[in-house]
Amino acid sequence: MKVLVINCGSSSLKFRLIDTDTEEVMARGLFERIGEEKGRFTYIPGEGEKDAVDMIIPDHYEAVKHLIYAITDKDRGVIKSLEEIDAVGHRIVHGGDKFAHPVIIDDKVISEIEECSHLAPIHNPVNLLGIRACMKYLPDTKMVGVFDTAFHQTMPEEAYLYGIPYEYYKKDRVRKYGFHGMSHEYVSAETAKMMGKDIKDTRIITCHLGNGASICAVKGGESMDTSMGFTPLAGVIMGTRSGGIDPEIVNYIAKEENKSVQEVMDILNTQSGLYGVSDQLSSDVRDLTEEYDKGNPDAKRALSKLSYSISKFIGSYFVVLGGVDAITFTAGIGENSYLVRKLVCDRLGALGVRLDEEKNKNVKGAMMISSEDSKVQVYRIPTDEEMSIARQVVKTIR
Ligand code: AMP
Repeated sequence: MKVLVINCGSSSLKFRLIDTDTEEVMARGLFERIGEEKGRFTYIPGEGEKDAVDMIIPDHYEAVKHLIYAITDKDRGVIKSLEEIDAVGHRIVHGGDKFAHPVIIDDKVISEIEECSHLAPIHNPVNLLGIRACMKYLPDTKMVGVFDTAFHQTMPEEAYLYGIPYEYYKKDRVRKYGFHGMSHEYVSAETAKMMGKDIKDTRIITCHLGNGASICAVKGGESMDTSMGFTPLAGVIMGTRSGGIDPEIVNYIAKEENKSVQEVMDILNTQSGLYGVSDQLSSDVRDLTEEYDKGNPDAKRALSKLSYSISKFIGSYFVVLGGVDAITFTAGIGENSYLVRKLVCDRLGALGVRLDEEKNKNVKGAMMISSEDSKVQVYRIPTDEEMSIARQVVKTIR
């Protein structure tokens, strides 16, 4: 099958056309600064050269129109007609507790996604824009919605309920949802493959460490618990997000600093995490690593807090899973920072986790990086959310 995967942000649209029989990426591209004065369209056909052009992209509809021109163009295109596309897979951030699986999109599904929009007011409306734009230009093609939250719908009640009055769960659906579902699903499946095991027989902890970060306890291929919560602010400390804190702090800072609750929440989302703890040195692990190597105490404090926070979640998921076969690192930091992987794994010695220092430093592609005598295997596996979406589209359509 040929599946077009669409991932819309508020001012961006990423796409990939994938032949799902071979998992070959036929074309990929990115529209940036949609709706702004000067936008940019980057297009890469298969193994071909990258093209980047500056253009005004007024809205997501125009982006889809240009995407279609590009993939069907007689020189740089990769298909002759749009009829070759069997389905379009759309990434949708929040499916609430309505969507535990991907779905074929129809009018009813659209209104149900709209109903979940208050849970992700920045993301769901733009995801819907992408769906509507594709429906306009590909009216006869099946559209499938794949939800970031769906993978975590297998969490048991004791994991997703908060210790607050039950009526807020019943009435307002206040509960843990979890995010990065496609990434956790993809890397846990890849980990099981690399272990040579049926995923049903595995207990894996996946660490998606990017600007946003979450840890997930995966048993038999199903999410049992995850560190993000009702929103992506919860869990480990991140680039600029605080992760989990005592909720009373919000009230306290608001009073002491004469700020509104919304202002404090903005600080927790944009001025905290590594950026906040490093005393505004940087939110980026590349910068912090450079400074760490020079002995900068702000960088040391931030990276210590990061590895402490991640290792505590990993430790607690040993209990959730009743033991662990593998830990997998993925996303920008998880894939690229040997230092963060080392600092985290050094803290897990009591659980029998041992890294192979050489492999950890020189890792390439998907690889096991634990030592022979480690009780738990450790992997570095590049995530591929678009491939995960394409695989799920095929399952849903078949
Ligand atoms: P993501 O959100 O998955 O794109 O991850 C972005 C983050 O990954 C950046 O902010 C950096 O902190 C981190 N990152 C990317 N490349 C590297 C690298 N080579 N070494 C260390 N950290 C990196």
